[in-house]
Amino acid sequence: MRLVVVGCSGSVSGPDSASSSYLVQADEGERTYSVLLDLGSGAFGQLLRYARPEDVDAVLLSHLHADHVVDLAALDVYLRYGPGSPHHQMPLVGPEGTDRRLVELIGEPDAGTCSYAISTWAAGTPIEVGPLRIEPFEARHPVPAFAFRITGPSEDGTGTRAIVYTGDTDTCDSVTAAATGADLLLAEAAFEEDRDEVRGIHLTGRRAGELATVAAVERLVLTHIPPWTSREKVRAEACTAYGGPVDVAKPGVIFAL
Ligand SMILES: [Zn+2]
Repeated sequence: MRLVVVGCSGSVSGPDSASSSYLVQADEGERTYSVLLDLGSGAFGQLLRYARPEDVDAVLLSHLHADHVVDLAALDVYLRYGPGSPHHQMPLVGPEGTDRRLVELIGEPDAGTCSYAISTWAAGTPIEVGPLRIEPFEARHPVPAFAFRITGPSEDGTGTRAIVYTGDTDTCDSVTAAATGADLLLAEAAFEEDRDEVRGIHLTGRRAGELATVAAVERLVLTHIPPWTSREKVRAEACTAYGGPVDVAKPGVIFAL
């Protein structure tokens, strides 16, 4: 199973990265299965570096904030009018209201005319895409939001591995439960300690590190860092709370598990 960082800038796109989007891939026989986690601003264009969009098996939305979903409009155009079009309807799983969000984004009168086959997350009810199993857990954010625990085959064929993506969240028991024992925790760290006092929206580097420790994960990758937040500071914060390996996500980096 592989995690490809397509875009990792937090809250808005940045000078060096698109907004949130991650490709998770796993091989089964000759076939590669791919799911795309979120599709924020600028991420569609970056996706073209790593996959043919029509080969993505499903798009999975953590929540409906603009920095996680706006390039669904670009993917819709590609699926309708791009090479080889029209393509099959792309499975799209998101929170309640995903259909209305698409109508706003795409400007069509109803979601039924767009390129997506929409379904809705129910916390604790996993979906399967080939050898990948994706379980949603409720996150702590101002709008309905989910973290994902994704299990799939290891690259070396020795068993299964687990990647956990927090989406956007502050510390909460359900995200800790999602992350427990993960091989890789992809945790947002949008806030800085001593600067961002508001709770219920995002993790700081320190809170991401605490989550990694409490959940006993093998490694921590920090992401969703806005252009106005210091990558070095949130990494240093995380390292004060977690003794394992800590990386900061960059576009194009591939984590093979
Ligand atoms: Zn958000």
